[in-house]
Amino acid sequence: MRKPMVAGNWKMNGLRANLSEVAAIDQAAAKANCDVILCVPATLISQLALKAKNIFIGGQTCHNEASGAHTGDISAEMLQDTGAQYVILGHSERRIDHAEKDESIQQKVLVAWQFGLKAIVCIGETLDQRDSKITLGVIGKQLLNSIPDSVSGENLVIAYEPIWAIGTGLTPTTDQISEVHNFIRVSLEHRFGDQLGHSINILYGGSMNGKNVVEISAIPNVDGGLVGGASLKAQNFIPIIESIG
Ligand code: PEP
Repeated sequence: MRKPMVAGNWKMNGLRANLSEVAAIDQAAAKANCDVILCVPATLISQLALKAKNIFIGGQTCHNEASGAHTGDISAEMLQDTGAQYVILGHSERRIDHAEKDESIQQKVLVAWQFGLKAIVCIGETLDQRDSKITLGVIGKQLLNSIPDSVSGENLVIAYEPIWAIGTGLTPTTDQISEVHNFIRVSLEHRFGDQLGHSINILYGGSMNGKNVVEISAIPNVDGGLVGGASLKAQNFIPIIESIG
């Protein structure tokens, strides 16, 4: 039985003062029927770990090697050491800003697992790809190449994030979300077997907010959300937490 989840992605936003938002989010998480994760900048993880009693903590990327001469990068072990249980990998902003490819994302997933982190792997199509009717092909390739074979179920979350919906206020129709989430579910079951494939949470991400969350989270095979902008303020994030699960 999958437990729904909502993961907030603060991206490159948030100073220590912004952790004042956490107390109310933590209270909402205590009462929620879903797991709540906050993926904050790495600089805030240890501070968040002191404040969060009911929230899981996540990073937003890690290097694909365990350690070494990579100035400015952060390792999975460092995230784990500072208090994270999750890490977002392959977010489209990392794929674009840092030219991350499926193959290196797969290595990152493996190193995240090595240090006990659960990987939230993001996949999604551009608007051009959707208009060219190759969305499912793109998603299938990203799934195949960015997810290692050694999935346990517990250690992986997939986030379907159409790139054109991120931060734009645009969202796909329920039919479009349903088509992709069902495709992901069938692909996971086909590759990993029915039981394991069925157990993996598939989140929707892209302009989710308090108004659209009920409709989106009611779609079969949508197991919650990955939320950017609306996770920064407790007053916007809490209605989403309360609606999922
Ligand atoms: C995201 O960055 O993962 C995201 C879904 O952002 P937003 O909710 O702002 O579209």
